[in-house]
Amino acid sequence: MGSKPLVDLSDDEIAVLKESSLLVGKTLAEVAKHIAPGVTTGELDRLAEEFIRDSGAIPGFKGLYDCPSTLLISVNEQVVHGLPGGRQLRDGDIASVDCGVLMNGFYGDSAYTFMVGDVAEPVKKLLRVTRECLDKGIAAATEGNRTGDIGYAIQQHAESNGYGVVRELVGHGVGRKLHEAPEVPNYGKRGHGVKLRTGMVLAIEPMINMGVKEVKQLADGWTVVSRDGKPSAHYEHNVAVRAGKAEVLSTFSYIEDVLKKKGELITA
Ligand code: MG
Ligand code: MG
Repeated sequence: MGSKPLVDLSDDEIAVLKESSLLVGKTLAEVAKHIAPGVTTGELDRLAEEFIRDSGAIPGFKGLYDCPSTLLISVNEQVVHGLPGGRQLRDGDIASVDCGVLMNGFYGDSAYTFMVGDVAEPVKKLLRVTRECLDKGIAAATEGNRTGDIGYAIQQHAESNGYGVVRELVGHGVGRKLHEAPEVPNYGKRGHGVKLRTGMVLAIEPMINMGVKEVKQLADGWTVVSRDGKPSAHYEHNVAVRAGKAEVLSTFSYIEDVLKKKGELITA
Protein backbone atom coordinates (compact mmCIF):
# COMPACT_ATOMS: atom_id res chain seq x y z
CA MET A 1 0.00 0.00 0.00
CA GLY A 2 1.52 3.34 -1.05
CA SER A 3 1.49 5.94 1.70
CA LYS A 4 2.14 9.51 0.58
CA PRO A 5 2.55 12.14 3.27
CA LEU A 6 -0.83 13.21 4.52
CA VAL A 7 -2.01 16.62 3.37
CA ASP A 8 -4.46 18.08 5.85
CA LEU A 9 -7.76 18.95 4.19
CA SER A 10 -9.76 22.13 4.59
CA ASP A 11 -13.42 21.95 5.59
CA ASP A 12 -14.34 22.77 1.96
CA GLU A 13 -12.21 19.87 0.72
CA ILE A 14 -13.68 17.55 3.34
CA ALA A 15 -17.17 18.52 2.13
CA VAL A 16 -16.19 17.47 -1.41
CA LEU A 17 -14.68 14.21 -0.15
CA LYS A 18 -17.87 13.54 1.81
CA GLU A 19 -19.84 13.49 -1.45
CA SER A 20 -17.53 10.71 -2.68
CA SER A 21 -17.96 8.82 0.59
CA LEU A 22 -21.75 9.14 0.35
CA LEU A 23 -21.72 7.90 -3.23
CA VAL A 24 -19.97 4.75 -2.02
CA GLY A 25 -22.79 4.26 0.48
CA LYS A 26 -25.37 4.68 -2.28
CA THR A 27 -23.48 2.23 -4.47
CA LEU A 28 -23.40 -0.32 -1.65
CA ALA A 29 -27.16 0.20 -1.28
CA GLU A 30 -27.51 -0.89 -4.93
CA VAL A 31 -25.54 -4.00 -3.96
CA ALA A 32 -27.89 -4.46 -1.00
CA LYS A 33 -30.89 -4.46 -3.35
CA HIS A 34 -29.48 -7.26 -5.47
CA ILE A 35 -27.51 -9.42 -3.09
CA ALA A 36 -29.25 -12.80 -2.65
CA PRO A 37 -28.58 -16.50 -3.02
CA GLY A 38 -27.82 -17.25 -6.67
CA VAL A 39 -26.44 -13.86 -7.68
CA THR A 40 -22.84 -13.88 -8.87
CA THR A 41 -20.21 -11.52 -7.48
CA GLY A 42 -19.51 -10.45 -11.07
CA GLU A 43 -23.12 -9.26 -11.51
CA LEU A 44 -22.83 -7.14 -8.36
CA ASP A 45 -19.60 -5.67 -9.68
CA ARG A 46 -21.18 -4.72 -13.00
CA LEU A 47 -24.16 -2.99 -11.44
CA ALA A 48 -21.90 -1.09 -9.05
CA GLU A 49 -19.71 0.17 -11.88
CA GLU A 50 -22.73 1.27 -13.88
CA PHE A 51 -24.22 3.07 -10.89
CA ILE A 52 -20.97 4.92 -10.14
CA ARG A 53 -20.48 6.01 -13.76
CA ASP A 54 -24.15 7.07 -14.07
CA SER A 55 -23.54 9.21 -10.97
CA GLY A 56 -20.72 11.11 -12.70
CA ALA A 57 -17.90 9.43 -10.81
CA ILE A 58 -15.39 6.73 -11.65
CA PRO A 59 -14.67 3.50 -9.79
CA GLY A 60 -11.88 4.16 -7.32
CA PHE A 61 -10.26 0.74 -7.29
CA LYS A 62 -10.43 -0.31 -10.93
CA GLY A 63 -7.01 0.13 -12.54
CA LEU A 64 -5.35 1.11 -9.25
CA TYR A 65 -2.59 -1.38 -8.36
CA ASP A 66 -3.90 -3.25 -11.46
CA CYS A 67 -7.18 -3.97 -9.67
CA PRO A 68 -9.53 -5.38 -12.35
CA SER A 69 -12.85 -4.58 -10.67
CA THR A 70 -15.05 -1.88 -9.14
CA LEU A 71 -15.86 -3.90 -6.03
CA LEU A 72 -13.79 -6.28 -3.99
CA ILE A 73 -16.09 -9.01 -2.70
CA SER A 74 -14.81 -11.37 -0.02
CA VAL A 75 -17.01 -14.34 0.87
CA ASN A 76 -16.94 -16.23 4.19
CA GLU A 77 -13.30 -17.07 5.03
CA GLN A 78 -12.12 -14.44 2.55
CA VAL A 79 -11.01 -11.41 4.55
CA VAL A 80 -10.55 -8.77 1.85
CA HIS A 81 -9.60 -8.28 -1.80
CA GLY A 82 -11.77 -11.06 -3.24
CA LEU A 83 -12.14 -10.55 -7.00
CA PRO A 84 -15.68 -10.57 -8.42
CA GLY A 85 -16.46 -13.20 -11.02
CA GLY A 86 -18.63 -16.23 -11.65
CA ARG A 87 -19.01 -17.28 -8.02
CA GLN A 88 -22.66 -17.60 -7.03
CA LEU A 89 -23.52 -16.49 -3.53
CA ARG A 90 -25.27 -19.16 -1.48
CA ASP A 91 -27.73 -19.14 1.37
CA GLY A 92 -25.81 -18.71 4.63
CA ASP A 93 -22.82 -16.90 3.11
CA ILE A 94 -21.51 -13.59 4.27
CA ALA A 95 -19.99 -11.22 1.71
CA SER A 96 -17.77 -8.27 2.59
CA VAL A 97 -18.14 -5.71 -0.19
CA ASP A 98 -15.48 -2.99 -0.40
CA CYS A 99 -16.02 -0.06 -2.78
CA GLY A 100 -14.17 3.09 -3.73
CA VAL A 101 -15.10 6.00 -5.96
CA LEU A 102 -13.21 9.01 -7.30
CA MET A 103 -15.30 12.13 -7.82
CA ASN A 104 -14.28 15.82 -8.02
CA GLY A 105 -10.70 14.86 -7.20
CA PHE A 106 -11.38 13.01 -3.95
CA TYR A 107 -11.77 9.36 -3.05
CA GLY A 108 -14.42 7.72 -0.92
CA ASP A 109 -13.74 4.22 0.44
CA SER A 110 -16.23 2.20 2.46
CA ALA A 111 -17.07 -1.44 3.08
CA TYR A 112 -19.97 -3.46 4.48
CA THR A 113 -20.41 -7.14 5.26
CA PHE A 114 -23.74 -8.49 3.99
CA MET A 115 -25.61 -11.60 5.01
CA VAL A 116 -26.84 -13.80 2.17
CA GLY A 117 -30.11 -15.47 3.14
CA ASP A 118 -30.09 -17.25 6.49
CA VAL A 119 -26.81 -16.82 8.35
CA ALA A 120 -25.83 -18.87 11.41
CA GLU A 121 -26.11 -17.06 14.74
CA PRO A 122 -22.35 -17.17 15.61
CA VAL A 123 -21.59 -15.54 12.25
CA LYS A 124 -24.21 -12.86 12.88
CA LYS A 125 -22.45 -12.16 16.16
CA LEU A 126 -19.15 -11.73 14.29
CA LEU A 127 -20.79 -9.11 12.07
CA ARG A 128 -22.36 -7.34 15.03
CA VAL A 129 -19.11 -7.22 16.99
CA THR A 130 -17.10 -6.06 13.96
CA ARG A 131 -19.58 -3.19 13.49
CA GLU A 132 -19.11 -2.33 17.16
CA CYS A 133 -15.33 -2.41 16.63
CA LEU A 134 -15.74 0.16 13.86
CA ASP A 135 -17.84 2.40 16.12
CA LYS A 136 -15.28 2.13 18.92
CA GLY A 137 -12.46 2.96 16.54
CA ILE A 138 -14.34 6.01 15.28
CA ALA A 139 -15.01 7.16 18.83
CA ALA A 140 -11.24 7.20 19.42
CA ALA A 141 -10.49 9.24 16.26
CA THR A 142 -10.43 12.62 17.97
CA GLU A 143 -7.93 15.46 17.90
CA GLY A 144 -4.99 14.83 20.20
CA ASN A 145 -5.45 11.06 20.28
CA ARG A 146 -3.11 8.78 18.35
CA THR A 147 -3.60 6.04 15.78
CA GLY A 148 -2.75 3.55 18.54
CA ASP A 149 -5.83 4.68 20.47
CA ILE A 150 -8.01 3.72 17.51
CA GLY A 151 -6.27 0.36 17.16
CA TYR A 152 -6.43 -0.31 20.87
CA ALA A 153 -10.18 0.31 21.01
CA ILE A 154 -10.81 -2.02 18.08
CA GLN A 155 -8.45 -4.75 19.29
CA GLN A 156 -9.82 -4.77 22.83
CA HIS A 157 -13.39 -5.26 21.69
CA ALA A 158 -12.55 -7.93 19.11
CA GLU A 159 -10.28 -9.94 21.39
CA SER A 160 -12.64 -9.72 24.36
CA ASN A 161 -15.11 -11.56 22.12
CA GLY A 162 -12.48 -14.19 21.27
CA TYR A 163 -11.86 -12.98 17.74
CA GLY A 164 -8.64 -12.44 15.81
CA VAL A 165 -7.56 -8.99 14.57
CA VAL A 166 -5.90 -9.06 11.16
CA ARG A 167 -2.46 -7.43 11.30
CA GLU A 168 -1.35 -7.47 7.66
CA LEU A 169 -4.00 -5.03 6.41
CA VAL A 170 -4.76 -1.69 7.97
CA GLY A 171 -6.82 1.46 7.64
CA HIS A 172 -5.32 4.58 6.13
CA GLY A 173 -5.61 8.24 5.35
CA VAL A 174 -7.84 9.02 2.37
CA GLY A 175 -8.00 12.13 0.22
CA ARG A 176 -6.77 12.93 -3.28
CA LYS A 177 -5.16 9.50 -3.14
CA LEU A 178 -6.99 6.36 -2.06
CA HIS A 179 -4.25 5.39 0.37
CA GLU A 180 -2.43 8.13 2.24
CA ALA A 181 -0.54 8.36 5.50
CA PRO A 182 -1.07 7.63 8.28
CA GLU A 183 -1.60 3.89 8.47
CA VAL A 184 -4.42 3.07 10.89
CA PRO A 185 -3.87 -0.43 12.32
CA ASN A 186 -6.76 -2.27 13.95
CA TYR A 187 -4.51 -3.13 16.89
CA GLY A 188 -2.22 -1.01 19.00
CA LYS A 189 -1.25 0.62 22.24
CA ARG A 190 -2.93 3.61 23.79
CA GLY A 191 -0.91 6.79 23.39
CA HIS A 192 1.24 5.34 20.59
CA GLY A 193 1.33 6.06 16.87
CA VAL A 194 0.66 9.15 14.80
CA LYS A 195 -0.99 12.07 16.59
CA LEU A 196 -4.40 12.94 15.17
CA ARG A 197 -5.33 16.47 14.17
CA THR A 198 -8.29 18.21 12.62
CA GLY A 199 -7.96 18.08 8.84
CA MET A 200 -6.99 14.41 8.76
CA VAL A 201 -9.45 12.13 7.00
CA LEU A 202 -9.08 8.46 7.89
CA ALA A 203 -10.50 5.23 6.50
CA ILE A 204 -11.07 3.13 9.60
CA GLU A 205 -11.68 -0.48 8.62
CA PRO A 206 -11.54 -3.34 11.13
CA MET A 207 -11.02 -6.76 9.56
CA ILE A 208 -11.99 -9.26 12.24
CA ASN A 209 -11.64 -13.03 12.06
CA MET A 210 -13.90 -15.42 13.95
CA GLY A 211 -10.85 -17.60 14.59
CA VAL A 212 -7.11 -16.94 14.44
CA LYS A 213 -5.72 -13.58 13.37
CA GLU A 214 -3.40 -15.09 10.76
CA VAL A 215 -4.21 -14.78 7.08
CA LYS A 216 -2.77 -15.98 3.80
CA GLN A 217 -3.05 -14.84 0.20
CA LEU A 218 -4.48 -17.04 -2.52
CA ALA A 219 -2.64 -17.83 -5.76
CA ASP A 220 -4.69 -15.18 -7.64
CA GLY A 221 -2.40 -12.63 -5.95
CA TRP A 222 -5.39 -10.78 -4.49
CA THR A 223 -7.72 -12.72 -2.23
CA VAL A 224 -6.73 -12.74 1.43
CA VAL A 225 -8.28 -15.56 3.50
CA SER A 226 -8.20 -16.50 7.16
CA ARG A 227 -5.59 -19.18 7.75
CA ASP A 228 -8.00 -21.41 9.68
CA GLY A 229 -10.81 -21.05 7.14
CA LYS A 230 -13.20 -19.43 9.61
CA PRO A 231 -15.36 -16.46 8.55
CA SER A 232 -14.11 -12.88 8.58
CA ALA A 233 -15.95 -9.56 8.59
CA HIS A 234 -15.03 -6.06 7.39
CA TYR A 235 -16.70 -2.68 7.83
CA GLU A 236 -15.17 0.63 6.76
CA HIS A 237 -16.05 4.28 7.23
CA ASN A 238 -14.32 7.51 6.23
CA VAL A 239 -14.04 9.92 9.16
CA ALA A 240 -12.73 13.44 9.59
CA VAL A 241 -10.78 13.92 12.80
CA ARG A 242 -12.33 16.65 14.95
CA ALA A 243 -11.92 17.92 18.50
CA GLY A 244 -14.17 15.97 20.87
CA LYS A 245 -15.96 13.82 18.27
CA ALA A 246 -14.98 12.54 14.84
CA GLU A 247 -17.22 13.41 11.89
CA VAL A 248 -18.31 10.30 9.99
CA LEU A 249 -18.32 11.18 6.28
CA SER A 250 -19.56 7.91 4.81
CA THR A 251 -22.84 6.29 5.79
CA PHE A 252 -24.48 2.87 6.00
CA SER A 253 -27.96 4.41 6.16
CA TYR A 254 -28.73 3.89 2.45
CA ILE A 255 -27.65 0.26 2.76
CA GLU A 256 -29.57 -0.34 5.94
CA ASP A 257 -32.77 1.25 4.61
CA VAL A 258 -32.68 -1.41 1.88
CA LEU A 259 -31.80 -4.24 4.26
CA LYS A 260 -34.60 -3.20 6.62
CA LYS A 261 -37.13 -3.52 3.79
CA LYS A 262 -35.71 -6.93 2.90
CA GLY A 263 -35.83 -8.02 6.58
CA GLU A 264 -32.07 -8.60 6.50
CA LEU A 265 -30.87 -6.01 8.97
CA ILE A 266 -28.86 -7.41 11.86
CA THR A 267 -30.24 -6.30 15.18
CA ALA A 268 -28.57 -6.53 18.55
MG1 MG B 1 -12.11 -0.07 1.32
MG1 MG C 1 -9.73 1.38 2.78
